[in-house]
Amino acid sequence: MTGDCTGKCIACGRHTARGIPARLPDTFTAAYKLYNGSTLCECCAPLFKERSLRNRSWVASQTEFRYIQRNEWRAALIEPPEPPFAIYLTLCGQKYGYLSLIRRISTNRDRYWLATDWQESPLLIHRTRLVEFLSIAQQLRARGVPKTQLLTAQFEPTTVAKAIKEGWEALLGAIEQLGGNPTWEVIVYAVD
Ligand SMILES: [Zn+2]
Repeated sequence: MTGDCTGKCIACGRHTARGIPARLPDTFTAAYKLYNGSTLCECCAPLFKERSLRNRSWVASQTEFRYIQRNEWRAALIEPPEPPFAIYLTLCGQKYGYLSLIRRISTNRDRYWLATDWQESPLLIHRTRLVEFLSIAQQLRARGVPKTQLLTAQFEPTTVAKAIKEGWEALLGAIEQLGGNPTWEVIVYAVD
């Protein structure tokens, strides 16, 4: 996708002489993430053209590009591809949240960038942390704790009563501080 527009690319900031005019829809919600200007370079232009990049979640590396379903999020997060790679997760499929990854390519499987459409900026994921959170979240889900309560770490009296009765209140204690923690949120969305 090349043209003859010269200028600074609004997505990646590089100078190009082969860009196309950047015509963004009025509804463009991620404009604040872009550089000023009116040109899209030949590399970035396809990123705006392909709707499924924002409609769907995906994993990209040098050897593969695949869309992932919600039930594949967990595996993608715990076992990311060989670097360099990029991972994008969307819940509502409307925003251009992945554009924040243009300058944040992941080069380490243990500490990597994750873009989502519910956080304004990419998250720096620590894989050991993620694995730890996953284990706690799975145990709580297996005991029937609803995701809404996990997300906020605010528990209904019935949940607390059940935990005490069955002897797993330490699990509730383990996530007490995690309400609003972005990595914890990712995990809650990713578990069954
Ligand atoms: Zn560009």
